[in-house]
Amino acid sequence: MKAVAKTAYGPEHLSYMDVPNPVCGDNDIVLKVKAAGICGSDMPLLYGPDEAKYEHYTYPMVIGHEFAGEVFEVGKNVTDWKKGDRIVSDNTGYVCGHCPACETGNYLLCPERKGIGGDMDGGMAEYVRIPGIVLQRDAASVRRIPDNMEFEYASVMDPICNAYKAIIQEAEIIPGDNIVIYGNGPLGLFSVQIAKIVNAAKIIVISTKRSAPVRNPICEKLGATDLLMADDPDLVSKVKALGGEDGIAAVINCASRSANVLPQAVEMLRPGGKFVMVGYTRSAVTYAEDPADLMGHKGIHFIGHMGYDHTSWRNVLALYREGRIDMSPIVTHKLPLSKWRDGFELFTKREAAKVVLMPELDKEV
Ligand SMILES: [Zn+2]
Ligand SMILES: [Zn+2]
Repeated sequence: MKAVAKTAYGPEHLSYMDVPNPVCGDNDIVLKVKAAGICGSDMPLLYGPDEAKYEHYTYPMVIGHEFAGEVFEVGKNVTDWKKGDRIVSDNTGYVCGHCPACETGNYLLCPERKGIGGDMDGGMAEYVRIPGIVLQRDAASVRRIPDNMEFEYASVMDPICNAYKAIIQEAEIIPGDNIVIYGNGPLGLFSVQIAKIVNAAKIIVISTKRSAPVRNPICEKLGATDLLMADDPDLVSKVKALGGEDGIAAVINCASRSANVLPQAVEMLRPGGKFVMVGYTRSAVTYAEDPADLMGHKGIHFIGHMGYDHTSWRNVLALYREGRIDMSPIVTHKLPLSKWRDGFELFTKREAAKVVLMPELDKEV
């Protein structure tokens, strides 16, 4: 089959190539991939900096952790699924089943968790295998998608569920709260959408000049009330003015290179406000000068964020089914799988928001 695969450790070494089809074990299912999202976290696979966690790949290693498709093959012991079922995976490929995280259903936090498209062959391919062990231990890691949900939207459930968890389950935003979102990449855009769904009052988005031209119009369409620039020297005072006497209830950090976000957030937030760290940063999250004291005095909550949980997935699918979520402004590009490199480039040049690869479009090229 055709797939996008890493062929060696380090930047580049990524190609559209023939790899063996996955073999469906007795407890496994194999999906025919219909759509696979390109994620910001995929960029280091092509451009570097390469990260130690990729060193243990067995090459060639198919990438892609955001994917949806149709069940193509089921192992002889599988009773929950049948050929033709339309499903999406939360990319869990293995969990231990007995650690404190697994026992409480927080499978994403399992220290032994392995991801499909992170530790084993992923979804940027014509077919992908879901291992039987995860179907047994974490059955809800694979979900049926609503009839009205197109595969390209099912494939971006990962980022929107991140936004749902950050804003609703972690920041606990309620209608009328003011919220600040750093970053207008896919996680930022989906956060705007979720903030709108919960009727946040002010939805303030902070972006860079580079990403503003394509992505800020999408922010506005989705319901952002105010757009500010990260390099604005008066950023904090402008945010505080917008928050007025109600103040800012939460800052959601969906920006990557974001070492300076925390001190700004501590200043912006109202007492008792919440800071949710969604975006990954490779720099130390640090304070400019003495705001640790301010964080304490204001009783700011710092919330480390990892992905989503089953509630996020269940509820986002329900919102979609009821017509309350429109992902079409965010999925700006649908490309054949063979055009994966174009997709990565569109994303890094900030000419796209979310890019989805669709293997079946290759037949039309
Ligand atoms: Zn992702
Ligand atoms: Zn575990």
